[in-house]
Amino acid sequence: MAATEEGGITLRELAGRPVGDLDSVGPKLEERLADMGLCTVLDVLQHYPRRWVDRTKRADIAELKIGEEATVFGEVRRVHGRRTRQGRALVEVVVHDGTSLLNLTFFNQGWREKQLGVGTEAAFFGKVDVYRGKRQMTNPVVDVVGNVADGGEKTGVIVPIYPQSGKAEVYTWQLRKVVAEALRRCQRRGLAEPLDAAVLEAHKLVDRTAAYKGIHQPETMAEQQTARRRLIFDEFLRMQTGLVARKRAIEATQLGIHHDASRALVSAFHGRLPFPLTDDQQRAIDEITQDMSSAAPMHRLLQGDVGSGKTVVALSALLVAVQGGHQGAFMAPTEVLAEQHHLTSLRLLEGLTVPAHGSLLGDRPVRVELLTNRTSAADRRRIASGLNGGEVDIVVGTHALLYGDAPFSRLGLAVIDEQHRFGVEQRSLLRDKNRDAVPDVLVMTATPIPRTAAMLVYGDLDKSELREMPPGRTPITTEVIGPNPLERARAYEVLRQEVGEGRQAYVVCPLVEGSGKVEAKAATEEYERLQHEDLAGLRLGLLHGQMPSKEKEAVMAAFRDHELDVLVATTVIEVGVDVANAAVMMIEDADRFGLSQLHQLRGRVGRGEHASRCFLLTDPQTDDAKERMAAMAASTDGFFLAEKDLEIRGAGEVFGERQSGFSDLKLGRIPRDEDAVIETRRVAEALLDADTDLAAHVQLREEVEDLLGDSVEFLFKS
Ligand code: ADP
Ligand code: MG
Repeated sequence: MAATEEGGITLRELAGRPVGDLDSVGPKLEERLADMGLCTVLDVLQHYPRRWVDRTKRADIAELKIGEEATVFGEVRRVHGRRTRQGRALVEVVVHDGTSLLNLTFFNQGWREKQLGVGTEAAFFGKVDVYRGKRQMTNPVVDVVGNVADGGEKTGVIVPIYPQSGKAEVYTWQLRKVVAEALRRCQRRGLAEPLDAAVLEAHKLVDRTAAYKGIHQPETMAEQQTARRRLIFDEFLRMQTGLVARKRAIEATQLGIHHDASRALVSAFHGRLPFPLTDDQQRAIDEITQDMSSAAPMHRLLQGDVGSGKTVVALSALLVAVQGGHQGAFMAPTEVLAEQHHLTSLRLLEGLTVPAHGSLLGDRPVRVELLTNRTSAADRRRIASGLNGGEVDIVVGTHALLYGDAPFSRLGLAVIDEQHRFGVEQRSLLRDKNRDAVPDVLVMTATPIPRTAAMLVYGDLDKSELREMPPGRTPITTEVIGPNPLERARAYEVLRQEVGEGRQAYVVCPLVEGSGKVEAKAATEEYERLQHEDLAGLRLGLLHGQMPSKEKEAVMAAFRDHELDVLVATTVIEVGVDVANAAVMMIEDADRFGLSQLHQLRGRVGRGEHASRCFLLTDPQTDDAKERMAAMAASTDGFFLAEKDLEIRGAGEVFGERQSGFSDLKLGRIPRDEDAVIETRRVAEALLDADTDLAAHVQLREEVEDLLGDSVEFLFKS
């Protein structure tokens, strides 16, 4: 098999071993394991327990008190399924734990009859109640740990409970057997250790063999925790090593642009702004200028909450490029937003000049153009020729600028707004836009990404933050409004009052899963309804993604010019809409949105001098949803909300499946494991400092390669 025959077994070796090779896995079980995605011995060893039940911590049935919540641990003595008179499935189970008997009642869970056969050993968690004078639990949480009758072994003091997939029907006791054999087979050679002894010692980590044993078969909870810590460390170290290596590979192989940092143009711009920069804006601009003037290509994230003033920073960066004779691209995720950026740029850059190309006669105005799908063929030609000749300085558009035929002659900087997934692929497209060197990249986001998450998502990215808001923001009061008609009527009343005082309002319609069409229909209906019922008499406008761009633009303009009082809209207003007079935000079915999205939506108000209100109309059903609504009402701090979002929904949800890395985290969680992320970042840097292509750490290198797949070849070339 592997070259390390005399050494320990590597993970790659285990990944090359089908589970079917184990004696405890016959063809049938092999198939079921495959259904759960467990095909190799490594898969099985990395199928970690979901939790561990400490038998010493369980409650004795004899001691249970009515009303208390407890975990009991026992063997099924009797099980009986029937139907109630209403036709509901009812399963009654009696368990015994050596001290006494307890009745369990399951409603609508007919399958429990089969699952909890006599002799099944399981942990039951629930609240003790009383029925006909007897203590019982109703619909407790069940963790089957084994079946004595079926040949399941009696378990130790700490019992691992494996995640079960509903369909596959691989019981936890079966998994325990398979894992036990896998561990036993690894024992003779032991698992190879990818880390230097010094690293293990410095970070107080147990070796890998101990870690896999300790996570599956701990003798004490402390052992389980040490094992976990080691395995989490490994997960993050692989990711960080890949990310740091990628950053370094890019720095080493790509030649960037030395931008002119003299600041003449940028200073002129700042001098003309109607307000002083905030300290954060100033610092961000300094960091960006420094990056841009250095030889390595810039790859920087500008992160600032809604309304923190990112546009001014972006324009400053674009002007750094322009003052040295380069061109800039300013890219937004939607056409509406690109148009908004275009208007803002024209307004803020008005009166600025640059030396006219090839002329001693002086200056010409900085030239900004808008290029979207809607640009006419004639304008397109005009802009193309301007780009070619170097008279166009800045092009504002959608991300299509990258893919389209915008013939930049000297692209020096690309600013990318609200594009979280600007990856390696897109960056390579940028190269084609400049013959001589790789353009700099500034990614902007208002979705605050907690530090640790940013380290993982953008591990190879530097970051500037705008935490401080420009002066003159007004606070937003947020209220959760339940389904009670009186409560809702009161919210509409407040909206009418505000409109009466000259303010404007947004009503955001529910998110409809799947189809923009259905969503548009729902928004249209709500618009009609409001017009005839709750908001009759006010001037209402409708905005949704299915409308032709011309119409969208007209509605936006009418709202900006205060020809409309209320804009009924889908989430198309999420980013970029900037109307200072809007002071009420009403969000229907608010619990369907993620926290960050709600925060973005709410950020559409509170942009002017008027105190603003946000109403979350909702009837949250789950604890998650309730928690999210409470967080929104309690805080307007985007960073706090982003952390909460991560905590409640998990990183995979927040950043999307494809955000590589997250789906590979099996034990590690952020923000919880922030320390490990930072610790492993340092270790990865030190490792790569001393051993650039990991020639002396072949195993770690293999693991990183297996994690990152195809995208990895270029990383470790020295
Ligand atoms: P973001 O894009 O970060 O959400 P914007 O760049 O749209 O925020 O800025 C929000 C508003 O704040 C704009 O109207 C902008 O002109 C204004 N603004 C930006 N910087 C400052 C500042 N330093 N002082 C006062 N107002 C500012
Ligand atoms: Mg540079």
